[in-house]
Amino acid sequence: MIDTHSHIYDEAYDADFSEVLQRAKDAGVEKMVMPGIDSKCHGRMMEFTRRLEGYAYPAIGLHPTSVESNWKEELQFVWDNYREGEFVAVGEIALDEYWSKDFLEEQKRVFEDQLTFAWEKDLPVIIHSRNATEDIFECLDRVGRPVRGVFHAFSGSYETYCRIKKSYEGFKIGVGGVLTYKNSHLAAFMDRVPLDDILLETDAPWLTPVPFRGKRNESSYIRYTAEKLSELKGVSFEETDSVTTANAIKMFGI
Ligand SMILES: [Zn+2]
Repeated sequence: MIDTHSHIYDEAYDADFSEVLQRAKDAGVEKMVMPGIDSKCHGRMMEFTRRLEGYAYPAIGLHPTSVESNWKEELQFVWDNYREGEFVAVGEIALDEYWSKDFLEEQKRVFEDQLTFAWEKDLPVIIHSRNATEDIFECLDRVGRPVRGVFHAFSGSYETYCRIKKSYEGFKIGVGGVLTYKNSHLAAFMDRVPLDDILLETDAPWLTPVPFRGKRNESSYIRYTAEKLSELKGVSFEETDSVTTANAIKMFGI
């Protein structure tokens, strides 16, 4: 399996990083993608890129919750630190209207500039969407380029999934621990989503699946999401693993 969204470089793992990494490997996580956040997190992420060469691959991008009054410098940091061949995606980017709408216009501008950047560099984007689905579609439409990528931690309806399929062909949905929650609305329509459209992810250290919900998440727990997905789709674990892994390899070129 490939964990397509792991903040393995987060300070949450400072105390037991080697064990966490070993458990991920033991659970069958062959590779992972590390999403970028902002200039503050970048140095640590790159340190882990070197430490985990050939295992953890970094993305670069300005996260919507880090879009504040210094957004121009932060965006410039992305352009300045991008190096050809080093990053597998632009992300995580897009809009967060849950935490704050204070800089919503700036969030949109930053998102659209990064969409264009990703298109120019032929990189996929990792979309962070919180209470912002309609505005994100509007930004994608305004940019008007055939950008590809993933709606990370997808939490939309079946109708939203269908809209993505219809209008934004190059996109897949990222499915993680939320799928395992009791009364998950995602679980109710997963039988109608082909495995081909799904990337597995954890968003570790957040969004921990059952049976560890409420505790710190880690990449090895991706197994619980894969099991749940297999059960909902009525396919074997091996099939879920092989199809979603192939999707991740194709999307991120890793
Ligand atoms: Zn994330």
